[in-house]
Amino acid sequence: MARSFNSPAFVAGVDLGGTWLRVGLAGPDGEVRHRARARTAATEGPAGVLAQIDALVREVVSAEPQARLSGLVLAVGVPGPVDSGAGVVEGAPNLPGWRRVPVRDRLEKLLGCPCLIEHDANLAALAEHRRGTGRGTQDFVYVTVSTGIGAGLILGGQLYRGHQGYAGEFGHMVIVPDGPLCNCGNRGCLEALSSGTAIARAAGVSSASEVGRLAAAGDVGAQEVLGKAARYVGLALGGLINLLNPEAVALGGGVLASSPKFWADVLTSISDASFPSVRVTCRVERAALGEEQGLLGAVELGLDYAREREVPVAKVALP
Ligand SMILES: [Zn+2]
Repeated sequence: MARSFNSPAFVAGVDLGGTWLRVGLAGPDGEVRHRARARTAATEGPAGVLAQIDALVREVVSAEPQARLSGLVLAVGVPGPVDSGAGVVEGAPNLPGWRRVPVRDRLEKLLGCPCLIEHDANLAALAEHRRGTGRGTQDFVYVTVSTGIGAGLILGGQLYRGHQGYAGEFGHMVIVPDGPLCNCGNRGCLEALSSGTAIARAAGVSSASEVGRLAAAGDVGAQEVLGKAARYVGLALGGLINLLNPEAVALGGGVLASSPKFWADVLTSISDASFPSVRVTCRVERAALGEEQGLLGAVELGLDYAREREVPVAKVALP
């Protein structure tokens, strides 16, 4: 079959996080064959981080005898909203100095291969849909409760980006009018109430896992903070389930691991806030994929791009 790529097409998936930068090289079967990672040089700004991506991608490509930069598709997940049509990162709260950065053009210039950029919550949803909790579903929601709170939507089997590409800002639903100030400038957003950052702040300690330890040791104040945070997550999720009638919802992120009771409280709160006939048909589970979730989502995005590019060539070649 004729192909528009030097056969076989390889995909370099990049998961750019505030702390870690992970790169993986996958073959046409989607299996990650080579990996590299580094601590994100966030203090060096966009130029420093893009130079790191350039170096790590070259490293994994050179480890694979069949792979060439010229036949590569690069897909990058970033921790913030993306104008995916323009390939521009609008901003990233955990990456200082990132405002309207044209990541796609800069990486294409550095590496000479086509490059795709996507919000990491969308890629996490894509990965869970193809390889994890959402496998086999058509309508699936992935929600992460971590340093921040975000969601990725798969509707009708496709990643749903919304009108401008900013869909999934689940963390900025206002749950408590005039509540605590949020990073976005508004008050009472879910993220300002239930993220790891918000939980730690409400309990007056340094991290959500510390709050979890205190709660497990019988600290009533810590238990209340976690109980409230879980309740708000469940209320918001109940609303989302009512709105979308998804087949499955997966929850991920470090806050879930901070306390076993958090998960149970979220489930109770979802039941309280969702329409019974919609709730009973919706599977709510923990995300199945671990720390490579973002990387695998990037690989899936890159493979989709490579497959789409194959189709017109194949049509011409067939009788
Ligand atoms: Zn907000």
